[in-house]
Amino acid sequence: MEKLDGLWRRRVASLVREGIIKSAAIREAFLRYPRHLFVEKRYRDYAHVDEPLPIPAGQTVSAPHMVAIMLELAELGPGMNVLEVGTGSGWNAALIAELVKGDVYTIERIPELVEFARRNLEQAGVKNVHVFLGDGTKGFPPKAPYERIIVTAGAPKVPEPLLEQLKPGGRLIIPVGGHHLWQDLYVVEKTEDGRIRKKRWGGVAFVPLIGEHGWRG
Ligand code: SAM
Repeated sequence: MEKLDGLWRRRVASLVREGIIKSAAIREAFLRYPRHLFVEKRYRDYAHVDEPLPIPAGQTVSAPHMVAIMLELAELGPGMNVLEVGTGSGWNAALIAELVKGDVYTIERIPELVEFARRNLEQAGVKNVHVFLGDGTKGFPPKAPYERIIVTAGAPKVPEPLLEQLKPGGRLIIPVGGHHLWQDLYVVEKTEDGRIRKKRWGGVAFVPLIGEHGWRG
């Protein structure tokens, strides 16, 4: 683990140098929860490489730079109520929980990954991430409204229930575009008077968001 920790510290330092990690809080969250704690043993040696990595059920954990970009765009702060759609390995949810210093709700559609994420989070000592099995395109009404919603899979369009569950003044980060690993990342804001504003950040590549308000499986 010492070698992995060293490699990870170098990755974080280079993300800071490249201007991708901008805030001290995100840097500290990355150092606290290295990606090697959230991948299978056979991929640990590659966890510091700035590329997506396979996780069970044919899914991926995003590249460190992509996760940092989405967290910077989300502008998370202590006490915010946050929903993540697409738990995967649980890594991004652990980082979110560290940034909001509180509970995080995250939804995953594949049962095997719900188990995988729960195990990773437990082993990493993360206590305030709540992983639910379900279709995240429908949001998670029991804990709505959310100040932030972060979707980590590519949608054909912004799912209506997520807009409904976003608090006025809130922000949704979501990749929208084609099914096959090519989308634009959007920052969607709901103004205090309930209007929706969308800003395109740039091109990204995520696995598809599959569900009632996403792609059909
Ligand atoms: N955030 C994850 C992490 O930190 O490891 C990476 C997520 S991976 C790129 C996208 C995940 O979204 C996959 O695990 C996939 O099964 C999940 N997913 C796709 N459609 C979904 C849906 N409708 N509801 C919940 N999860 C979904």
